[in-house]
Amino acid sequence: MKPPLIAFTMDQSPAADVRPFARGRELYFINAVYVRYLEGADCLPMALPTLLDHSRIPSLIAGIDGLLLTGGDDVYAGAYGEEVIPGQWRIDPPRTFFEIELIREALHQHKPLFGICRGCQMINVALGGSLWQDIASQAPGARQHRSPESPILTYHPAAIAAGSRLHAIVGRESLTVNSSHHQAIRKLAPQLQITAHAEDGIIEGIELPGEDFVLGVQWHPETMDEMSSSRALLEAFLASCRERSLAR
Ligand code: MN
Repeated sequence: MKPPLIAFTMDQSPAADVRPFARGRELYFINAVYVRYLEGADCLPMALPTLLDHSRIPSLIAGIDGLLLTGGDDVYAGAYGEEVIPGQWRIDPPRTFFEIELIREALHQHKPLFGICRGCQMINVALGGSLWQDIASQAPGARQHRSPESPILTYHPAAIAAGSRLHAIVGRESLTVNSSHHQAIRKLAPQLQITAHAEDGIIEGIELPGEDFVLGVQWHPETMDEMSSSRALLEAFLASCRERSLAR
């Protein structure tokens, strides 16, 4: 049987990016850890850059077996009807609108969806939820979810909800997860369920109840593949992708 074809979304530097590697060019890029994570399992990873023309999204989704929504720059707050709070953060509106369409079409075609960090937030936004634009300034009492020395990761416990798909996958009631985010889910989309949260109440995992694999985690399993839960998450996602492509 052919390994499942898994598209993963990408980060984008704006044309005016002053970071040395960009040199003013508009670039699509991805942290190689996502590629290593996928190629460590039985699947065919495929990079999917942000497309500005959304007309072929249905054909695109029809051609893949699963979609991995990766981490990256901030989700554009306008997508959930808020003014952007000015700050130091990079925001990616084209990617936000592209991913919203990808997610809706993937749901429509019952293709498995796995969201990591920003990807978890995107599933919530695409289904009508909202985000804390900046945990530190908007959610009083919340712990540090991102090291000031980013990209160094900080770690915290996450409680896993009994009866959830996530719980069935990791087989644990609590996990120590890494944390590298300054945004998080605020208002949960009506169809979604919370599957994990930090001690401060910040949402760390969500899923869509039912048959379809639609699951998001706020942490980065791709950078902690020494942990069995990270491997189990990817394997469960890929198992759903294989099942789904067999049923076609
Ligand atoms: Mn966290």
